[in-house]
Amino acid sequence: SYQKVLEENRKLYNLVQDLKGNIRVYCRVRPFLPGQPNSLSTAEHIDDGNITITTPSKYGKEGKKSFTFNKVFGPSVTQAEVFADTQPLIRSVLDGYNVCIFAYGQTGSGKTHTMTGPSDLTKETLGVNYRALSDLFLISEQRKDVISYDISVQMVEIYNEQVRDLLAPDGVNKKYPFCNHSFLCSFMLLLVEIKNSSQKGFNVPDANLVPVTSTSDVLNLMNLGHKNRAVSATAMNDRSSRSHSCLTVHVQGRNMTSGAVLRGSMHLVDLAGSERVDKSEVLGDRLKEATHINKSLSALGDVISSLAQKNSHVPYRNSKLTQLLQDSLGGQAKTLMFVHISPELNAVGETLSTLKFAERVSTIELGSARANKEGSDVKELREQIASLKSALARKE
Ligand code: ADP
Ligand code: MG
Repeated sequence: SYQKVLEENRKLYNLVQDLKGNIRVYCRVRPFLPGQPNSLSTAEHIDDGNITITTPSKYGKEGKKSFTFNKVFGPSVTQAEVFADTQPLIRSVLDGYNVCIFAYGQTGSGKTHTMTGPSDLTKETLGVNYRALSDLFLISEQRKDVISYDISVQMVEIYNEQVRDLLAPDGVNKKYPFCNHSFLCSFMLLLVEIKNSSQKGFNVPDANLVPVTSTSDVLNLMNLGHKNRAVSATAMNDRSSRSHSCLTVHVQGRNMTSGAVLRGSMHLVDLAGSERVDKSEVLGDRLKEATHINKSLSALGDVISSLAQKNSHVPYRNSKLTQLLQDSLGGQAKTLMFVHISPELNAVGETLSTLKFAERVSTIELGSARANKEGSDVKELREQIASLKSALARKE
């Protein structure tokens, strides 16, 4: 019966989400890693949409807390299964929607695994980024007699509120080709601005925009992006977990008969690690990084929750990250956040704060101004659940 309650909870939740708009939250639990003692996990009762976290007394106030999201993927869920639940959202880009997919969580919880895959990539372990583009190629090929699509990508990194172009060939921004061999020089010039382009107020970074027509193009670009990121990592002492990286896909489709043009864009974002840094212990660069990360992640949370509450003012301008993502957060844009958690007992503090952040992003606030409307929505939902239940009962 506990299972039943959870099940109903999730259904209600998904119905509310449908009414609320286009923000989805999927939670993914990383497995224990090879070589790690296979101890108890803090994550229990994982089913389609619910998860319960147990805090052992040693790590804080002992207790259990349950969370409900649109989906919860347990540790044995494969990359292909995760993608299957993401695919419809991704395909909507070809219909002119703007989509934003984030990976959120503490360092080591599996963000890069979900978005890109592990470092020893195989066909099976390819992440969402590659699968998304390969799916877009597949569908655009199927539609090619009706709509002709152009697909191009950008890849940038945001570090300490500065935006860097990761697709500059050999570290060269096409705008500054003279600056080829000096690492220092190119590093300085690779910083790019986020420009408000003329169309629809789209915020586009002034970074290389590279047309892609095949999955091998995409793999080459991703390799270049990772190489460029690695260069800065050695220079700056592994900062990949302290920067956000963003793969942006721009799609333009032209209807072959009417000539009508549609545009869609998709941001695929591997966020900086969300772990709290003890301010008393960090100094200098590390403190600066931590401050910027906190600022941008909470700016992101503020933007998403003010969108969810349909506030008239959305605080996009509070960070480079939200500025960059402005066109694919809000309006008719569809947003998906993958929240990642680690199963280890000693990570339970971070796990709970990650899930609380996710809850804040996804939970409807019953503000007084909206209470009326939501009151009737919830009534409607309860009726729907009742009819679903009786439909189920008839089946049994
Ligand atoms: P993050 O990007 O959040 O810092 P990573 O994606 O690098 O974390 O994951 C940390 C380690 O755990 C990597 O070795 C990664 O391959 C592994 N890992 C993460 N998620 C999974 C998963 N779902 N299945 C198998 N291994 C995983
Ligand atoms: Mg990572």
